[in-house]
Amino acid sequence: MQTVTLIKGDGIGPEITEATLKVIEAAGVKIRWEEVSAGEEAIEEHGTPLPEAVIESLKKNGLGLKGPLTTPVGSGFRSINVALRMELDLYANLRPSKTFPGVRSRYEGIDLVVVRENTEDLYSGVEHMVGTDAAESIKIITRKASERIVRFAFDYARSNDRKKVTAVHKANILKLSDGLFLEVARGVAAKYPDIEFEDRIVDNMAMQLVQKPELYDVLVMPNLYGDILSDLCAGLVGGLGLVPGANIGEEAALFEPVHGSAPKYAGKNYVNPSAMIMAAVLMLQYMGENEAAKRIEEALAAQIKEGKNLTADLGGSAGTAEMAEALADRIRG
Ligand code: NAD
Repeated sequence: MQTVTLIKGDGIGPEITEATLKVIEAAGVKIRWEEVSAGEEAIEEHGTPLPEAVIESLKKNGLGLKGPLTTPVGSGFRSINVALRMELDLYANLRPSKTFPGVRSRYEGIDLVVVRENTEDLYSGVEHMVGTDAAESIKIITRKASERIVRFAFDYARSNDRKKVTAVHKANILKLSDGLFLEVARGVAAKYPDIEFEDRIVDNMAMQLVQKPELYDVLVMPNLYGDILSDLCAGLVGGLGLVPGANIGEEAALFEPVHGSAPKYAGKNYVNPSAMIMAAVLMLQYMGENEAAKRIEEALAAQIKEGKNLTADLGGSAGTAEMAEALADRIRG
């Protein structure tokens, strides 16, 4: 039986985690959960939001499922999410955005995957003041990190029967940093002749995604563009309540919803558990539990299409727990 590190998270995290565990159990997958404390709970218990035990557990198990964690504002703690990605070298952030028929959104049939570089660019944390009236944040792009993320995108495309990879950059202006990313992307693309390759400048990409999202398939890009465009893609399919993310490295993988801890809804049995459930679907696929993953995804799609037992953001009146219970019943048949 596989052991998976479980971080329930802050705010709405515990509710959507309970909902997700119920659904996984209904799909018949046996997992030994190793729960560790991170975030606000860990600050109270251990004086730090990211105790060493969390990293150790993830390193040992190589696999984690996590609820959203609040980043304390102005407390001196850096983002736990960024810290986890850096500590475990989870270099690939995978964010699929797929339309569920029945969800109100501007488009139908969207099926986009953003592959975001997760370890460098403007998130390297190299920032300083220059005197009192100016600040510098250094954008770091390396050949090594660019190569492994583009390779990841092509390998993902190949093994998921995708047809095209688009590299997104601003090499017309950032001639050295994004220029290097683009040069590397072209070099990697040449090794995958079975998959179409093209590149787009990031501002043009933003417009194209809004106007003609059906033209795109797998998108690969440096960290900052990935952060922004993956939320744009989430918006195209109906919002944050539906979109999962995976942080994948050589030694470990951590699956989570894209959204945050939505503190104002904490404990209200109100929010949509789908993003976390879909994060579990990605995790099950990663584990090779493809049958269970498919059953969960299809049942969720059917429930959304039918329009019953849905949370308020999907136009329903069910609570988080009721939506998950109905989904679990549907999976059990
Ligand atoms: P958020 O995603 O928590 O919430 C923004 C709004 O989106 C909510 O008010 C709600 O209207 C909606 N929403 C989010 N999740 C939903 C769901 N499951 N169902 C229905 N509606 C949903 O973003 P925020 O308010 O900017 O951030 C709150 C906290 O979460 C911050 O501390 C932030 O740092 C943290 N955060 C954590 C992660 C993570 O753990 N990966 C990601 C993003 C934000």
